[in-house]
Amino acid sequence: MRRAAVVSLMVLGACAPVTRAPPSAELYARFALVSQPVTAAGQLTLGGRAMQCGAAKTVMDRALRDYGAAIGDFIVLNPDRLAGAPPDAQLWVYAHECGHLNGRTDEAAADCFGVRKGRDEGWLDAGGLDTVCAFVTKVAPDHLHAPGADRCAAMRRCFASSAR
Ligand SMILES: [Zn+2]
Repeated sequence: MRRAAVVSLMVLGACAPVTRAPPSAELYARFALVSQPVTAAGQLTLGGRAMQCGAAKTVMDRALRDYGAAIGDFIVLNPDRLAGAPPDAQLWVYAHECGHLNGRTDEAAADCFGVRKGRDEGWLDAGGLDTVCAFVTKVAPDHLHAPGADRCAAMRRCFASSAR
């Protein structure tokens, strides 16, 4: 659940000149090892629900080493990893990556954006937030992501405050 421009450049590096500009969704899907065709904005169904992040397209990539990533102006999801997560957590992963595309560069801000998007769009209630908390608590912390209990506490504060 981090921005994965490095991964995409590694994938594309053998086939195209490495540039600073991120690839398009179509280019990523073409060169990624195990991806599906690009899903247009507004066409994504996740956890039984239509999901949208502005004009962002989505690429399903089974080789992605995380649940999701935000690259350039599109979102990459690993359908195999998501399949092991509850629907509320699947939606939240997408919303978290949407936060990255909306200028929330750090992980805590993207977490916050994700739960508020869910609250404001009506797909995340208090029970769903418990599910998301249980999900992030299982994710190992790293240099970008705080321990799950801390992420959960911060997300509960975001969910309860009125701002977006
Ligand atoms: Zn992230």
